[in-house]
Amino acid sequence: MRSISAFAPGRVNLIGEHTDYNAGLSLPFALPLGTSVTLTERADDRVLVSSREAGAWSGTLADIEAGGVAGGVAGWAGYVAGVLWALGSAGHRIPGCEIELASTVPLGAGLSSSASLECAVATAVAGLLGLPLDDPGRRALAAACTRAETEYVGAPTGGLDQLAAMLGAEGEAVLIDFADHSAHRVPLHLAEAGLAILVTDTGVRHELAAGGGYADRRAECEAAAQALGIASLREAAAADVTRLAASPGGSVTTRRARHVVTENERVLAAVAATGAGDWAGLGRLLTASHASLRDDFEVTVPALDLAAATAEAHGALGARMTGGGFGGSTIALLPLDRADAVREAIDGAFAGAGLPRPAHHLVEPSGGARLG
Ligand code: ADP
Ligand code: MG
Repeated sequence: MRSISAFAPGRVNLIGEHTDYNAGLSLPFALPLGTSVTLTERADDRVLVSSREAGAWSGTLADIEAGGVAGGVAGWAGYVAGVLWALGSAGHRIPGCEIELASTVPLGAGLSSSASLECAVATAVAGLLGLPLDDPGRRALAAACTRAETEYVGAPTGGLDQLAAMLGAEGEAVLIDFADHSAHRVPLHLAEAGLAILVTDTGVRHELAAGGGYADRRAECEAAAQALGIASLREAAAADVTRLAASPGGSVTTRRARHVVTENERVLAAVAATGAGDWAGLGRLLTASHASLRDDFEVTVPALDLAAATAEAHGALGARMTGGGFGGSTIALLPLDRADAVREAIDGAFAGAGLPRPAHHLVEPSGGARLG
């Protein structure tokens, strides 16, 4: 029986937060952290999954077919089953198999352990079935993984994480336009400029599938677009934001819309800044993004604000929360020789605030999903 190994990365979103479901722009890059998978074909219809982080699950291909949200496989194994289900419904013949996985992405930290897991499994299946891992093949796998998470697991995601994991590359970010789901590679040679990104996992956990604040923000953005008579906030301009203030519930929708409109502008400015090697400018955009997420979109928590502010005060060019918010991680753009000082300053600030010691990862844009 054939055995195939694969790896897919987690990601950070450099800038462009809560824009995906508003048909907007995002700029993620792949992390060196990721999920490793070994998939071994079986002669029967059984599927055995083991995760170093989560335990074991076993069932049959028929159990997986039974569907996710409506029944079938629940819990963490649903992320694996969902990928097999999505690839099966795309017309691929999925065999019984044993799947062993282990991840270096912290779970639920906003670094996309879920897409990392999905894309690793999908890449291994692609290797087993001989599906292409060229650019169109990667986009098709990203789409299947997105269906797995939204339709099978029932977690509302926009596809950013899966595109970043499948299309990411060393020294590059991925500019995603959610108006048409197009994705372009953008050079992001931080190391050559003596820079890196310090990822700080605050340890405060978000819970996307449970809805809560994330679902509220989506609804508020839809309400803002509806009040403006447009299909999505992507079509809104600064003048529209001002107009919203007069509508019922205007002050909240105004702030939500202002975040989305200004964040899309910041993504384009960030692409221009990286192209020009204007790293100080990029840092200022990260900081402005954080302020907008804190004051207008209201998805930060004190630990995120503290990590970002402390990083800036100790030599980072800019810092912001990354991921959906309500916990999770921050990123700080910094000269490599400031990394230790910033890390220590954040640890000190957290200790002073009575918060548990956070986990740090010093990263550069890294390679996307791959076999072997
Ligand atoms: P994030 O993607 O930001 O880490 P999510 O809530 O989207 O957070 O996904 C985390 C969930 O994905 C976990 O609770 C678990 O169900 C699943 N998951 C991710 N990695 C693994 C793994 N290595 N083993 C088992 N389940 C995993
Ligand atoms: Mg996730």
